[in-house]
Amino acid sequence: MTSNIRYMSGVKGLKDIDVEGKRVLIRVDFNVPVDSHNNISDDRRIRLALPTINYCIDHNAKSIVLVTHFGRPKGTFYEKYSLINIRKRLERLLERRVEFIGDLDRSQDIVLASSSQEVFLLENIRFHEGEKQNDKELSKKLASLCDVYVNDAFGTSHREHASTYGITEFMDTKVAGFLMMREIEAFSKALEEPVRPIALVIGGAKISSKITLLETVLQKVDKLIIGGAMSNTFLKALGYDMKNSLYEEDFVKTAADVLEEAKKAGVKVYLPVDLVTTDSIEKPIDVKIVPAQDILEGYMAVDIGPATLKLFSQAVELSNTIIWNGPMGIYEIDKFSKGTFKLASAIADCYAYTIVGGGDTADAVDKCKEADNFSFISTGGGASLELLEGKILPGFKNLDRVVQ
Ligand code: ADP
Ligand code: MG
Repeated sequence: MTSNIRYMSGVKGLKDIDVEGKRVLIRVDFNVPVDSHNNISDDRRIRLALPTINYCIDHNAKSIVLVTHFGRPKGTFYEKYSLINIRKRLERLLERRVEFIGDLDRSQDIVLASSSQEVFLLENIRFHEGEKQNDKELSKKLASLCDVYVNDAFGTSHREHASTYGITEFMDTKVAGFLMMREIEAFSKALEEPVRPIALVIGGAKISSKITLLETVLQKVDKLIIGGAMSNTFLKALGYDMKNSLYEEDFVKTAADVLEEAKKAGVKVYLPVDLVTTDSIEKPIDVKIVPAQDILEGYMAVDIGPATLKLFSQAVELSNTIIWNGPMGIYEIDKFSKGTFKLASAIADCYAYTIVGGGDTADAVDKCKEADNFSFISTGGGASLELLEGKILPGFKNLDRVVQ
C-alpha cells in the first residue's frame, strides 16, 4: 500500500514545469500573527514563500498573482484583515514593487493587461464566502488569472477551499511550490526512511483529537513518550486518581487500548512519573510537584515534573529520529512552561533528526528560542496533524503527478 506521504511526494513541483512567459498564480499562506496594533509580529510564513515567488520571477513568469487568506473574516470585508500591511512587508522582503488588487472582480482586467513582469497580491481571499465553500464560480475566477497554478500554502492544504482545491478543476497545469515539497520531504524523512530508533513525543490537551494520529503512527515508532493533559487520560487508564486534572473520561478505555497495542507492537511507552500540580490555573498560589500517584485533593496536573523531564530527556537522547506533537503542559503560563521548554531544549540537543508538527508545539519551540536547533518545524498545525494521521491532504490531491 502506498502511504499518504509517498503519494503526496509524487506530485509535480515548480522545477518540473516551465514558467517562462506564463501567468502564474501562487496560493501562499500569509496568515501571519499580528500584535495588538496590527503589526506583523512574525513574518516567517512570508519569508518561507519567497523561494517559490523568486523562482517564478527569475524564470521570467509573465505575471505572478499571490493569493492568501489572513485571519477569519467570515466571508466579508474587514479592514483589520486587509492585506495592506502584508503587502508592505512583502515588498520589503522581495525588494520590488507588489501591485495590490483590492477588487477581485477587476482582477482579470488588471492581470491580463500587464505586459512586463508584475507581481500582484490579491486582497484576502476569505473576504469572499465562496473561498471556504469551495465555490465553483470563485475557483473559475481565480483560474482565469493564470496559466499555471502553484499551491505553496501548506498550512491550509488540509482544507478543500476554492483557492487551495477547487481551482485545480479548471487548470491544466497545477504543481506544488517549494514549501509544500519541503514539508513532505521532511515528514518523509521521519516516517518513510527514518533512522531508528524513532520516538514520537506526544502531548497537548486531548487524546480525542489525536487518537487517529496515535493509531497510525504507533506501528511505525519504537518509543512513545506521552505528556501534557493527554497523559492524564493514560495515567487514569493505569488506575491513578487524577483528581481535578483535565482528562477525558470517555477515552480512558481508548488509552488502555493504545497501551495494549503498544505492548503488542513492541513499542516502549514513557508516561510521567511526577507532575507539577496546582489548585488553580488562574491564581496558582500553591504549586506542588508530586509523584503521578499522589495528586492532592483539589489539585490538577498542569506540567510534567523534573523527574519526568529527566526520564523523557534520556529516552529521546537515545533516539535517532524524534517527532514531536503537543506541549507537555500549559506552556502559555510561565509557571507551567518549564516541562515543555526544557524538553524542547533536550530534543534540540539530540544528535537526531528532529521534527515538530502541531501549531502550539511550534509556537512553544519558538517561544523558548530553540526553533533554529530543530531539523524541521512544520508550518502547518492542522495540516501536519492530518498528514501524521495518514491522510492525503486536499491541497496535494489534484496536482499534476510526476508518476501517475
Ligand atoms: P498542538 O497545537 O501542538 O497540536 P494541542 O493543540 O493538542 O497541541 O495542545 C496544546 C494545548 O494543550 C495548549 O493550549 C496547552 O495549554 C494544553 N495543555 C497541555 N497540557 C495541559 C494540561 N496538563 N492541562 C491543561 N491543558 C494542557
Ligand atoms: Mg493546537
